[in-house]
Amino acid sequence: MNVLILGGTTEASALASALAERSIPALFSYAGRVATPKPQPLPTRVGGFGGVEGLAAFLADKRITHLVDATHPFAERMSRNAILAAQRSGIRCLALTRPPWVPQAGDHWQRVVGIEAAVNALAGPPECILLAIGRQHLAAFAAQPQHHYLLRLVDRPEASLPLPQHRVILDRGPFTLEGDLALLREHGIQRLVCKNSGGEGAVAKLTAARQLGLPVVMIERPALPERREVHSVEDVLAWLA
Ligand code: NAP
Repeated sequence: MNVLILGGTTEASALASALAERSIPALFSYAGRVATPKPQPLPTRVGGFGGVEGLAAFLADKRITHLVDATHPFAERMSRNAILAAQRSGIRCLALTRPPWVPQAGDHWQRVVGIEAAVNALAGPPECILLAIGRQHLAAFAAQPQHHYLLRLVDRPEASLPLPQHRVILDRGPFTLEGDLALLREHGIQRLVCKNSGGEGAVAKLTAARQLGLPVVMIERPALPERREVHSVEDVLAWLA
């Protein structure tokens, strides 16, 4: 057995620890998006594979028998490539994901599909907005320049952002309810925009928004081809067994 974990999430790191503890042969792969990725207890490679073909070649070269896609639910291209490359290579593939968040009583969610729809949802008078979507699609929000955007990012953006009014806070989850309540209050946040990532590490902002009665523009997950999906490390271990 030789496992390849496509990482970049808390779940991927938990799986890496579980495999290392059991001495199950495995490799870990990062896209290389953040400056200081978390060290893993497994041999680690960094950077894209070169599409479906590149990944299929890598799987063959490293004699991978089991591919676990533990990327973020919004890493759509990588997840599609994983499904196709595994099919092409005839190896088994499993996705380790977090269940999506679902609205609870007291939530005011506007659910949208895609970044463009989230941008359009912000048409209207100026507001203070917590834009908690990572750094990839921030420029799209230049189409709504009337708002003041608070950005919470892991790394400082390399290039200047085309958002006329914004402030960057550097922080990496997991976040706490107390911390997020303080953040929303301190910056006079009136609305949040976030991705439906699921999981515990970033849920505090939604609980805080509920407590403060703030609306949330929730970007729902991209649709993927049918695939086998589990939500726990134990389920991955059972699949491997
Ligand atoms: P993406 O758009 O689906 O992927 C773009 C390309 O990046 C892929 O085609 C692949 O390049 C490369 N790539 C992505 N994940 C990789 C991995 N684990 N190992 C090697 N190459 C990888 O992905 P993304 O949204 O940019 O996410 C990149 C990474 O950040 C992922 O590891 C993801 O788990 C993490 N992340 C993403 C988000 C998010 O909101 N999107 C949030 C938190 C963490 P090739 O085609 O050349 O193989």
